[in-house]
Amino acid sequence: MNFWRISASLLVFSCSVFCQQPTAASLVSALNGLSIDPNEVYHVRDLRLTRGGFTIYLTEGLLAFTKPVGSEVVAAAFTTSGVDAGDAEFIVTPPNRGERASLAYFTKTPNLDEHFSQAIFLFTDQLRMETLRHMQQTEVKKAAAEAFGPQWTQTIDQLAAGVEVPIVESMLNRDPPDQGVFYGLIGGNDLGPFQICFNPHQAESNIVGKVTMEGGIAAFQSWTSFLPKKAIAPPLSIFHTAAYQIEADISPDLTVSAVTRFIAKTARENCRAMALEIAPKMKVTGATINGQTVEVVQPQSSDDTGDTDGEKFLLVSAEPLPSGAPLQVEVHHQGSVIHDEGEGIYFVEARNIWFPRFSFDSATFDLTFHCPVRLRIVSSGKLISEKVDGSTRTVHRVLDSPVQFVGFNLGDFVGIEREQSPFRVEFYANRSIVDRINNANSISATHTGDFPAALTAMADRTLELLRNDAAEWGPPPTTNMAVTPIAGTFGQGFPGLIYLSINSYLPPLLRPPHIRDTLLNSFYSDLMLPHEIAHQWWGNLVMANDYRSGWLTEALANYAALGIYSERNGAAAGNKLLAFYRGEIETRMPNGKPVEAEGPLNVGVRLRALNANAWRVITYDKGTWVIRMLAQRLGGNDRFAAFERALIQTTKDEGLSNETFRKIAARFLPPGDPDPTLEYFFDSWVYGVGVPRLSLARSSAREYVLRQSGVGEDFSVDVPVRIERPGRPAAIQWVRSSNDGTPFTVSGTAQVSLPALSDFLYRSE
Ligand SMILES: [Zn+2]
Repeated sequence: MNFWRISASLLVFSCSVFCQQPTAASLVSALNGLSIDPNEVYHVRDLRLTRGGFTIYLTEGLLAFTKPVGSEVVAAAFTTSGVDAGDAEFIVTPPNRGERASLAYFTKTPNLDEHFSQAIFLFTDQLRMETLRHMQQTEVKKAAAEAFGPQWTQTIDQLAAGVEVPIVESMLNRDPPDQGVFYGLIGGNDLGPFQICFNPHQAESNIVGKVTMEGGIAAFQSWTSFLPKKAIAPPLSIFHTAAYQIEADISPDLTVSAVTRFIAKTARENCRAMALEIAPKMKVTGATINGQTVEVVQPQSSDDTGDTDGEKFLLVSAEPLPSGAPLQVEVHHQGSVIHDEGEGIYFVEARNIWFPRFSFDSATFDLTFHCPVRLRIVSSGKLISEKVDGSTRTVHRVLDSPVQFVGFNLGDFVGIEREQSPFRVEFYANRSIVDRINNANSISATHTGDFPAALTAMADRTLELLRNDAAEWGPPPTTNMAVTPIAGTFGQGFPGLIYLSINSYLPPLLRPPHIRDTLLNSFYSDLMLPHEIAHQWWGNLVMANDYRSGWLTEALANYAALGIYSERNGAAAGNKLLAFYRGEIETRMPNGKPVEAEGPLNVGVRLRALNANAWRVITYDKGTWVIRMLAQRLGGNDRFAAFERALIQTTKDEGLSNETFRKIAARFLPPGDPDPTLEYFFDSWVYGVGVPRLSLARSSAREYVLRQSGVGEDFSVDVPVRIERPGRPAAIQWVRSSNDGTPFTVSGTAQVSLPALSDFLYRSE
């Protein structure tokens, strides 16, 4: 062995060990300046690419790769311009009926086969290797780059800016080529530009949709999203933590500056990038892992993004993070997420994403807040201490059972407490609201500041509702409950912290005149508090595993509130609410279709980007109806409560999905049910759309036909037809509906009728 050979091998050795790994900043900056490599333009013919449930067929055209980012090529452009008989196709066949229906809603076809002449791809997978291999096997030629002018560079840059976080994450975590990500912007011949995403690290790897601008706000309209058949869902997050510790300063101008600390672990080898999510309005200003400063990659976002969704960002270590070992993480973040609404009333935005977190992860929380002394601050968790030092108030709270959401609220609060083991209720109101109530009650000035009787009654009611719900469902995630007011028309129930619309605090006569009808009075006075308290179980103890089952936690909470409302005000009052929900469900949109036809329950928040009102009506109104029909199917509210207890036992650890819910519910069906797996029930009511129009016709002495119309061909539900015979209690005969009409026989003399309109979701006219 001569010296030269030794030194050469040493050189290779030293390079693989000591060569600097690319920084995230260098990758991001290279991604922001991609340009076509004139030596990497190919005339391709019959190149077929498959990505999960997608097939892309480049029949003939020019495929140009960009210059590398670090050592990797991550972008390509395709055009048929100047190519005789140039063509390409994008084909997607969603694996289930709901997703085919969703795709058809946007593209008029359930299985898309769109021809295109231009496309841009961003990827960390084998696209370039596939192309080069294909080039060797066929007569693919190199081509000139003239077809790709400067406007291509600009569009590539725009697309790259939108996906830099997942691209950089995939590069730094060294995804093998078959686990890389693939994003595309396709200029469809009929559909115009649309986006495709294949990311095998997401629960639903294949997504097709379009970025739309509604009122100046960019939103992604998802046409279809799915995990292909036979694909295995990846874990929800590569990293996990068991506990967050957050220290937040709220300055006099209401800016929140916080430090979040946690110990993270991963089972994966060779990861340099740790993905977390946070509200776009919270800027991550710095971070360390095990005391070492790490890079932060947070998407640049304008302030017009919605406040409800977290956005993914990365912490990037210079070296791979050790798998299995505890990693001490510290993240500094700052943002304006609190608005002053006047009169000592504030609005907290970004209520569950104001701190960095792993998505869908549960953990315990240790929370310390510093705020101006004039404000009170309340958060989830038991109060450990509250101190005033000069002009600063410091509040320390601990939530020691693992939860997904944690929030805080603040204001010029006055409050009272109620305690009955094991529960402790802290009930807060804005001082200005208390004064308004007292003034309206003509309490003399000397008494102003006394807690009004109506609010004291609400505090008592909170305790009573907690005790009743716990008797029905078992212990909630935390026994300390703070009820706090929020500006706006909604409520939200976090573990141990409820945000309740200010309208619920005010007696009806002090509410804005336009919300003073009977129904809205019930909504604010009777329904909101029980709904939010029920979320302690549905949403906090039992958490949805995905966006598709989010409706269940809302519908279960709302059904519980409806039950409490009916108990207090009578069944007729409850039925009136159900009738109101039915009316909203059936309201016609300008296109002549009912609101409900906008999409099935299980597409969840995807509906919100399309039509926020439809999302609300489908989630809350139709959701409550579906739960009501299920409760009756199981044999009434007692059996339904037994099912709910079983559901809690199974799902409080493993999480809730539509299919888990269906399978457990099916175990509680009475014997002889015509749909023992509840698959029919779910296919039409949860995975499908439609409210049927039903009618009964008598064809002979004992023969009847159940007719159905106004729904799609594949809509079919079991209808509880009422059979009344003289001197006997009314019986139910299940008849499965179809658009062809279902004949059925009734023995003996009987009166046969459709179910009551308050019992089943259908139209009778
Ligand atoms: Zn809710």
